[in-house]
Amino acid sequence: MKTLQRTLTIVKPDAVRKNAVGDIIEQFEKNNFRILAMKMLEINKHQAEQFYAVHAGRPFYNSLTDFMSSGPIVALALEKEEAIADLRKLMGATNPANAEEGTIRKKWATNIEHNAIHGSDAEDTARFELSFFFAGYELAK
Ligand code: ATP
Ligand code: MG
Repeated sequence: MKTLQRTLTIVKPDAVRKNAVGDIIEQFEKNNFRILAMKMLEINKHQAEQFYAVHAGRPFYNSLTDFMSSGPIVALALEKEEAIADLRKLMGATNPANAEEGTIRKKWATNIEHNAIHGSDAEDTARFELSFFFAGYELAK
């Protein structure tokens, strides 16, 4: 049986700069994700480091956290059956050179770092990432 899941997605600064926010949110709705919460904000370098702490020590960590704190982002809490896997499918591969036709990264990503969108990759990371951006009372019932 498929279970209802929640996942956290971010429209990254590159996609906001390209005016892709509306198009990307439309993809969520067309693919039957329910939007539970949504906010536009900027995070600072320290907050980006906390959010991407799992990547601390990777060669791209400094540049990634600079990028994620370089301008406005849009964070959304989404709900759907199999939301985590379905969102990853809709996003496409991390490197847009490998992303399939019809995916958000194929359409909007510039390169492996400036790749338009983030999505949680497992239930435990989804819980951490949802609570990073949203308090319980902010999620639609
Ligand atoms: P995300 O976690 O943002 O949803 P992902 O799960 O597809 O993306 P991760 O391996 O978790 O990819 O990497 C996190 C982010 O770090 C990537 O989305 C990308 O912005 C950046 N990144 C990953 N690998 C590289 C790399 N080799 N060079 C530069 N940036 C990278
Ligand atoms: Mg990831």
